[in-house]
Amino acid sequence: MARVLIIGAGGVGRVVTHKCAQLPEIFDEICLASRTLSRCETIASELKRPIQTATLDADEVPQTVALIKEFRPDVVINVALPYQDLAIMDACLETGVPYLDTANYEPKDEAKFHYGWQWAYQDRFKDARLMALLGSGFDPGVTNVFTAWLHKHEFDEIEYLDILDCNAGDHGQAFATNFNPEINIREITQRGRYWENGDWVETDPLSVSMPYDFPEEIGEKQLYLLYHEELESLVKHFPKIKRARFWMTFGDEYLTHLRVLQNVGMTRIDPVSYQGTEIIPLQFLKSLLPDPSTLGETTKGKTCIGCLVQGTKDGKPKKAFLYNACDHEECNREVNAQAISYTTGVPAMIGAKMIITNTWNGDGVFNMEQFDPDPFMEDLNRYGLPWKLQILS
Ligand code: NDP
Repeated sequence: MARVLIIGAGGVGRVVTHKCAQLPEIFDEICLASRTLSRCETIASELKRPIQTATLDADEVPQTVALIKEFRPDVVINVALPYQDLAIMDACLETGVPYLDTANYEPKDEAKFHYGWQWAYQDRFKDARLMALLGSGFDPGVTNVFTAWLHKHEFDEIEYLDILDCNAGDHGQAFATNFNPEINIREITQRGRYWENGDWVETDPLSVSMPYDFPEEIGEKQLYLLYHEELESLVKHFPKIKRARFWMTFGDEYLTHLRVLQNVGMTRIDPVSYQGTEIIPLQFLKSLLPDPSTLGETTKGKTCIGCLVQGTKDGKPKKAFLYNACDHEECNREVNAQAISYTTGVPAMIGAKMIITNTWNGDGVFNMEQFDPDPFMEDLNRYGLPWKLQILS
């Protein structure tokens, strides 16, 4: 029985809160805190059991420290934005509470993400005898656990890893993002990057693509190579991987809108002067786009995210695809959210369960693939994200 503090009442925060509330035998007290109290209250009103809510600006460490001291959680789940990661880690260190997030730290003024900032907390968490579990969403998160599980059970060596992220859903909007638009557009408009033969190779944004025939009646979709944070930790923890890449599907309509928005400067993150006021164009654009947490009702179709792996088993070449497929409408029926929020929120809940039940333990800052994947894989099947393994050769 444990007390959980969830920070961030967006699309992912809604799913984590619903999923924790479904497990009173594990999470007996829940507090949902976010910048806008009314969003916490809306989520609380959807639940079958009472939870606490609080207003919190998690950029302000003393505010988070005060809330932690008042609520006394056994774990903090950070599903606010990547900008808050370090401030919330600082508050956890000050109060002696384990930390978990789903996305690695990004500074607001530079669209660049790497684990260096959070790995630098290793000694402080170790000395405090606390765990920080980084990237417990789907990708990063489940994709790291999938890789560890394939390595443990199906391959002697993993040589080629391709993480495939397909959203074959349709939200009925001309242009919308499935999670926070600012974070999403910053990620997609960056230069691509993948790991090959011990080095990073850079590519122009969205310049490399390939088709893939997805299972679950999804069929062929066009994937685009992106840089994604789990590549950094996976090649560190599985140093024999020769090549690691991350791919995401986009439709033509989405890419056309994105290109126009980029060309006219609407995706810029530097301040521009507008009628005497400084505005950040991307933040202004975010205020115009649909809130991803409202897309649940209109989104139809499936996601399919997984790891396509080539390597060897018993001296022979082997190829396999380990994936989860998730139906947007089923997610919405269960927790009022579309599948991107669902596939992120469920692993965040499971990661917190791994920590508080001591199933995963250790002092310091950890990525998901550093622990035994088996109990996490069992929980994915149990709590709404069943997985399938296709042996391709
Ligand atoms: P949303 O924008 O829907 O929600 C973010 C929430 O955080 C909002 O409620 C927002 O408050 C709140 N927030 C923002 N700043 C602060 C602050 N300073 N203090 C307290 N609360 C704050 O985003 P999503 O739910 O779509 O995404 C949440 C996180 O999940 C992001 O970090 C995202 O990168 C990550 N993610 C990870 C994935 C994975 O697979 N690993 C996939 C998808 C998302 P307000 O309502 O006032 O704006």
